Amino acid sequence: MLRDIGLMVLVAALTACGGGGGASQTTTPTSTSSTVNDTASTTPTSTSSTSSTSSTSSTSSTSSTSSTSSTVNDTASTTSGTTGTSANIYAPAGFEAILTSSYAPTLSAATTLVSRSRYLISDSASASTSANYLTIGSTYSATTGYAVESSTIPAASTYGTYLSKLVQAVSGSDGYFRLDSHLHPNQSIDVDVSDSNRLKFRNNFGKASTTYGYVTFGYDSSTKLLQAKKRYKYSYDATTYTATYTEDSTFAGANQYVSYAGGAYKLVSSDSAATRLYLYASPIDFSIPVNMNPAATAYVSNAKAPFKTKTTTDAVEGSNGLIYKNVNSTYQAQVKVAGSSAETKASADAFLATIKTTLAAKGEKLRYDPSVYTAFRDAALATKLVSDAVADGTPGQNLVPYVYFTNEQDTSGSYHPFMIVVSYGNPSSPHGLQDIPRPPGEGGVLYPNARVTRFSNLENYILSIPLKDYGLVTAVTENTLSSTLLSDMGLSVTSANVYNYASIADNGVLINGAVMFPVMNNVLVPSQSMGELSANGCHVGQGGGGPHCHADGYQSSKGVGVAVYGDSDYVGKTHPPLIGFGYDGVALFGVYRSSDSSMLGYSTVLDSFGGHLHDSLAYHYHAHAVANYPLAGSSVTYTLNVLMKGAYIGKTNSIPFFGMNSSFSNNKYLGGTVK
Ligand SMILES: [Zn+2]
Ligand SMILES: [Zn+2]
Repeated sequence: MLRDIGLMVLVAALTACGGGGGASQTTTPTSTSSTVNDTASTTPTSTSSTSSTSSTSSTSSTSSTSSTSSTVNDTASTTSGTTGTSANIYAPAGFEAILTSSYAPTLSAATTLVSRSRYLISDSASASTSANYLTIGSTYSATTGYAVESSTIPAASTYGTYLSKLVQAVSGSDGYFRLDSHLHPNQSIDVDVSDSNRLKFRNNFGKASTTYGYVTFGYDSSTKLLQAKKRYKYSYDATTYTATYTEDSTFAGANQYVSYAGGAYKLVSSDSAATRLYLYASPIDFSIPVNMNPAATAYVSNAKAPFKTKTTTDAVEGSNGLIYKNVNSTYQAQVKVAGSSAETKASADAFLATIKTTLAAKGEKLRYDPSVYTAFRDAALATKLVSDAVADGTPGQNLVPYVYFTNEQDTSGSYHPFMIVVSYGNPSSPHGLQDIPRPPGEGGVLYPNARVTRFSNLENYILSIPLKDYGLVTAVTENTLSSTLLSDMGLSVTSANVYNYASIADNGVLINGAVMFPVMNNVLVPSQSMGELSANGCHVGQGGGGPHCHADGYQSSKGVGVAVYGDSDYVGKTHPPLIGFGYDGVALFGVYRSSDSSMLGYSTVLDSFGGHLHDSLAYHYHAHAVANYPLAGSSVTYTLNVLMKGAYIGKTNSIPFFGMNSSFSNNKYLGGTVK
């Protein structure tokens, strides 16, 4: 994964030199060719095969989309009724809501621990409602982590009931297993000798204010006893954020057993005081789906690249934070409070209505009805970090602290309104980076020796989504891009298509504030084919930061808190959910499932960009599948789980600062006072 890597470095550099205010949506060519790692050398340059074998209509003659340019229907959107709009335009529920929704699977017993598999651990050989399960506590402490608690599975159970009980077994070089929480994967089970040998979840993968470590265990499938074996102490370098795990030579708990009594789990010396513990397999398969690793690339054991520190919530939020301080008085009411707020919503809704009127007076229009932007804004602002999975994140914090609307004029008096999205660039659910077979590696080092990205940290994104209807292109090359995946490979523009005439970096933002990247990586191979993505279709680039997504996690996992949307979002609706925006201002909706034939637009074929125009909704993208995509150098085919293929159908040439590095100091469209 080369270009990602170079680009993410660039973004990191931008953030540093732009005073923390650099917008990340940049197509500025990276000059960091030296950061090219060996991924390319292991990947046949299969450019010709991938471009010729991409879906049938993916060449530059995107004629099927041309008919839509004249029909972008502002009038339809303004006349759509409230009822129709709410059923058509809605955001996915989000992970916090999923955790509280009903879920009652049947558990099946497991006999042994298998590395990277997830289990429930119970004191009962049968999964009854009276069985007690090891559970991660609900209270987070920056210094002490989470408690190891016990709870039952009531008849009225939810996803949260199960996810809080899942532990992932991870075998180490000693052959024993570390037990990580699935819901809060920064947390592993440790023992507290100062508290009667109680087991506790401790942070082993982040910027913990106090560091502890973890215990490894062996499980005897005949005696059903879980036995402590070794302990490793966790520490990290406060400057480089390199994590280190060293064996605790003073650990006195080796060969002690886990005992469950009085609601507490402890280590005890005698097997007579130990508790027989039974394993149940995770009712949800969180492993990497075949389509996310069609070449069956093996799991690499490379050391983990250090996590980064790019920003803090204090630097971004509040009256002294980056945003409020830089935004001028016209927009301050929209950013007075971080996250969801009735007060800022009233200001934002009112300002959006003003934008619509202002454009109309100029004979121009918004691309969508205001309800589309409002749905995105409200859902993004409600996104909170649920999972303790981000190295420098705090569960419960906002992930998208601000979304606000600006409306500035250029020198000729034209308005260029934007939706500005301020995001920390992480999903609220577990990111799954630890399970990626072969994550991006650090630059300048051959992959076998490279440290790889399995940590996530807070990003410092200020993203701009154009609100005005700038029209649609009829051929990808109508948009002038300073650098594309195609040009980056030194290839001629005559072979431009929807896959390769694309940004070398992020090309849009998902509704949880994570960014999207094109399907193809910078050697024009689908990122999905490399075994470098999580089950949610994302990974962290070499420069660290939050995971960016090359593929649609919904299509790989069917929801359940992995993707930004799931089946439950479709219930009672007439169109798939709104899940993001391309930087061209074109909205992205979820995939049409085979069961959605009665939904609006189902029978309106998607064009080569993955978009279409139907009913009262202006032209928009849908996540979609490209079946039978050939795996380079093999007879295997797989399904591409596409968010956006890569190229923009929205016209971008008149969008100010499009694809450029900018910040409050030079880009007034971000809503600041440009000096
Ligand atoms: Zn990537
Ligand atoms: Zn549609």
